[in-house]
Amino acid sequence: MKKIDAHAHVGYFGSWCDVGLTAREMAEAMERYAIEKAVISYPDNAVTAAALREFPDRFAALAWLDPNRGPQALEELDALLNGQGFCGIKLHPLFNAYTANDSVVFPLMEEARRRNLPVFIHSGHPPFSLPWSIGQLAEAFPEVRIVMVHMGHGHGVYIQAAIDTARKYDNIFLENSGMPMHTKIKEAYCRVGAERLFWGSDAPFHHYAVEILRTEVSGLNERQLEDVFYTNIQRFMGWR
Ligand SMILES: [Zn+2]
Repeated sequence: MKKIDAHAHVGYFGSWCDVGLTAREMAEAMERYAIEKAVISYPDNAVTAAALREFPDRFAALAWLDPNRGPQALEELDALLNGQGFCGIKLHPLFNAYTANDSVVFPLMEEARRRNLPVFIHSGHPPFSLPWSIGQLAEAFPEVRIVMVHMGHGHGVYIQAAIDTARKYDNIFLENSGMPMHTKIKEAYCRVGAERLFWGSDAPFHHYAVEILRTEVSGLNERQLEDVFYTNIQRFMGWR
């Protein structure tokens, strides 16, 4: 089945992570697993920009922005959108140390609203990136489309909160990489909405084969799987 990866990273992550894929390595792996396109980001946006230049048909680029940098983050966003072909915002409250609903995030959200940009937000780690905080942000910015990346991640209580929060705010969409419970994929599809769940790999943190299999065995039928693997993110990003 053809796929679009709603969440991946090019480049190397050091420290405890010690994982990485170059743009070429990722493009080759995508070919093997029938992944047409990947939505990518990296803390250094220059790495993402280089990957996009090398494989413009394979990748869509999100601007990884640190709201703590204030006006500089807005300037960086402007440059990435206008000169470099970026098409959305990635926020990582854990990595950059702010809570998802902190007012420091608001200027970027206002900019996202003004430009109609999707905002992808990492979820699943206390105290910074909990589903409830992302819900409060979604409530404050109902016109901004938010992707709750990892839909709660590795903790059952957060996974349930991700589903419950997305049910409450219709501007929240869920992405399922690194989320261990295959049952929650079907639950999210049925309870949140058929069009509001995306498949993602979070490569290089997870292996494509593992992430694909978990979704394949989730209990969704072929047509539903096509929504999750392909059609939903395509529509969300405005590619069809
Ligand atoms: Zn990630």
